[in-house]
Amino acid sequence: MLEEKQLQKRTGNLVFKNAWDYDPAPESSGHIQLRETYDLFINGEFTAPEEGRYFATTNPASEQKIADVAEATKPDIDKAVQAARNAYNKTWGKLSGRERGKYIYRIARMLQERAREFAIIESMDGGKPIRESRDADIPLVAAYFFYYAGWADKLQYAVPGVEPKPYGVAGQIIPWNFPMLMAAWKIAPALATGNTVVIKSAETTPLTAYKLAEIIQDAGLPPGTVNIVSGAGETGAEIVNHPDIDKIAFTGSTDVGKLIQKSLAGTKKGYTLELGGKAANIVFEDAALDQAVEGIVNGIFFNQGHVCCAGSRLLVQEGVADKVYHKLKDRIETLIVGDPLDKNTDIGAINSKSQLERINHFIEKGLEEGGEMHQSSAEVPSNGYWCKPTLFRNVSQSHSIVQSEIFGPVLAIQTFRTPKEAVEKANNTPYGLSGGIWTDKGSKIFQMGQNLRAGVVWANTFNKFDPTSPFGGYKESGIGREGGLHGLLPYLKIN
Ligand code: ADP
Repeated sequence: MLEEKQLQKRTGNLVFKNAWDYDPAPESSGHIQLRETYDLFINGEFTAPEEGRYFATTNPASEQKIADVAEATKPDIDKAVQAARNAYNKTWGKLSGRERGKYIYRIARMLQERAREFAIIESMDGGKPIRESRDADIPLVAAYFFYYAGWADKLQYAVPGVEPKPYGVAGQIIPWNFPMLMAAWKIAPALATGNTVVIKSAETTPLTAYKLAEIIQDAGLPPGTVNIVSGAGETGAEIVNHPDIDKIAFTGSTDVGKLIQKSLAGTKKGYTLELGGKAANIVFEDAALDQAVEGIVNGIFFNQGHVCCAGSRLLVQEGVADKVYHKLKDRIETLIVGDPLDKNTDIGAINSKSQLERINHFIEKGLEEGGEMHQSSAEVPSNGYWCKPTLFRNVSQSHSIVQSEIFGPVLAIQTFRTPKEAVEKANNTPYGLSGGIWTDKGSKIFQMGQNLRAGVVWANTFNKFDPTSPFGGYKESGIGREGGLHGLLPYLKIN
């Protein structure tokens, strides 16, 4: 490495603390327009909540308030459902597929035009690194709208031999980890199939949904086609239990998913539930290990582990276990934890104080249960909610760090000897959302893929999404699929 003096000579007056430090590269947020207060978006208009209640949404990286946001209660949900019903009966529900497609394409194009603004607000409100929101979340949001716009006039080919009909009014509830992407996964297929929508954002990340409301207004959708509300669990329950809603789509925790399923049992409502996960990345001795390490890091550390399909477990074949562990240790040492709006940041802020407490609870439990922990030496800012990338080894299948969804940058590492043992360990949690296989042999990929009880299995990559492919889980990870042709079906009555 160059001595500091030599470095100074080469770089003029610039002095680096260390040749490997990055200079700050903050994304400018000066041009972002945010209101001080956001009202509910009902029947095409921003509307004050009936009971006049608002809650603050804060930036988890600074703990500063960004805006006050309306809390929807029963009368607001009644109004939103009524507006959606009217639109279904009188305007949106009467349009041809071709016409519906035009509106959805318009939304997609407007999202592309305003992509930078959406990415910045997503990072401010949710804490995720701008690199993720700019390069993954928002481009995917536009891609899902484009994809489903294409289906709007082709539904007869989605279900050959039957004339597909929409359900009517869809109630949709989304989580805080991918606020815009989850909104797109739900709104785009609902609109393509001719349904109207009442959607609720998560209480810690309501802002981009209201920015989407601006686009929906500008795109000229008939009032009431998409209604956007905010609030916490009680608001969500009002949607789930509303008698005039025909279908519920929920993404969130398994605990809430179970509650929702209980409330819907015996009703006429259709539903899809996309719930938790505890995915394993399985690394065989013949894998390209450096690539695998990158995939593991991408699967659990980028995005703070705030991903339901995160690769929160690593199963590594015994012969390469030490090697992979040391490579991982070296790699996480280079990860930058900090300002979500800095383009160099790898791990942003944990979404909320309560989520950080939950992660720390599991880390403590992991230690109590005898796990061996290693955290990177990254410096974290003094304000805000942060968690350093964390590895746990010497953990066994029954440990909570192996079984429970933590939703943080915490990786549980176990070893295996044979493919059979890897499958048994991978499948041995209550979840079954996703998995990853790293090997040089195609035959192993097929063999493992067939035996893993997971909705999505990636091979020699991880966390890749495409609008054409379905996503969803086995066991306690949920019911139904979103994305692709499969994602249309829950919004259609096909009998
Ligand atoms: P997480 O643990 O990821 O925050 P939750 O399942 O608690 O997940 O939240 C996901 C979404 O479900 C949020 O929009 C939240 O407000 C909503 N929600 C929470 N409780 C309920 C409930 N009882 N009924 C309907 N929606 C709920």
